[in-house]
Amino acid sequence: MDVVDLIRSKRDGSVLHDDAIDWVIAAYTRGEIAEEQMSALLMAIYFVGLTAPELNRWTAAMIASGERLSFPGLGRPTTDKHSTGGVGDKITLPLTPIVAACGAAVPQLSGRGLGHTGGTLDKLESIRGWRASISNEEMRTQLRDVGAVICAAGGGLAPADRKLYALRDVTATVESIPLIASSIMSKKIAEGTSALVLDVKVGVGAFMKSRERARELATTMVGLGTAHGVNTVALLTAMDTPLGLTAGNALEVAESLEVLAGGGPSDVVELTLALAREMLAACGLTGGKDPADAIADGSAMDSWNAMIRAQGGDPAAPLPVSPHQHSVVASATGRVTRMDALAVGVAAWRLGAGRARKEDAVSFGAGVQMHAKPGDIVTAGSPLFTLHADDETRFDRALDALAGAVDIAAADADWSKPALILERVGG
Ligand code: URA
Repeated sequence: MDVVDLIRSKRDGSVLHDDAIDWVIAAYTRGEIAEEQMSALLMAIYFVGLTAPELNRWTAAMIASGERLSFPGLGRPTTDKHSTGGVGDKITLPLTPIVAACGAAVPQLSGRGLGHTGGTLDKLESIRGWRASISNEEMRTQLRDVGAVICAAGGGLAPADRKLYALRDVTATVESIPLIASSIMSKKIAEGTSALVLDVKVGVGAFMKSRERARELATTMVGLGTAHGVNTVALLTAMDTPLGLTAGNALEVAESLEVLAGGGPSDVVELTLALAREMLAACGLTGGKDPADAIADGSAMDSWNAMIRAQGGDPAAPLPVSPHQHSVVASATGRVTRMDALAVGVAAWRLGAGRARKEDAVSFGAGVQMHAKPGDIVTAGSPLFTLHADDETRFDRALDALAGAVDIAAADADWSKPALILERVGG
């Protein structure tokens, strides 16, 4: 095979042969294709796209670059969720033990945050002693005994994606639907789940700013999952406003515990229950225990405690708290009509909750606590946000990010609550 011919062929709009796709992914993963050549191919794909059969093959080749896990003999069906990432999106934390408490096994391989959206592993690492890295054997045992695992993806899973994602990051080729879909789905399919629910975020705080692009991504990923034998559905959900009342690692763990204890913000509860029901239906567990009952009878909290303990964590240990707080107050009396998710995400990131480079450490206590959300009535001078940081010098840049992030209209202004769950794709 000649990689230059392949680049030229895609550049000129041709369809790549299966053999060529298998070869280019395998050879690139082995380090036998130059970065500049793969960059050119990615850019050609960015502009020309991939047909559905090409994308299926591309994804299959990425899966075949590493191991594919499977979990026979668990005695319960596997089901998982993936979110394309949003601000305050801690849903995986309460969702995983709730679904396990309803009888499914959830093999959730998660990542760390980069940029303004947080990472599930960073959040869980704020719990004393909790380990993100476990072996495949430990994962299997925990799935059998507890039914819930959230852990780091091992190096053996879709190694092609690790190289391709890093290259896309520095070649402005991240925002390509076939490349995003194959990246996400190769990892989820290799993880060994039999059913998958995708939470595709739409809005200012999301990767996909428009509903049309989000729908296209969802449809593409549902098609890929189905083609690879994973029963896949997607929900498009709004990400114009942060989810819940917290953005930051330990702050989000605390909020997740409120949900598991039967409280928590209504949007987090609504989305958690909707996704839990979809996950159970996708793996064939219908008519059994309802997720709301698993919260009410305490079994979801038991499942959380068992999941955290199984990975060395102490669920009773106090969560880290940042030593410095700064209050942001409402500038006027009236109804909050907008709170910009991206601004809150960037503020939390600048406070230390996120990282700018992969190797940076995160602050567990840092982040943004919200005291009002769109729809709420506030009075001038009442608190809108509390900012938390380990280092006071971080407040100024976080405050810059929050400038103009909130609109307050007259208390009697017309306002109707926007829908959180916008659309369902697949199934
Ligand atoms: N998340 C991924 O894993 N891959 C992408 O390409 C984008 C988001």
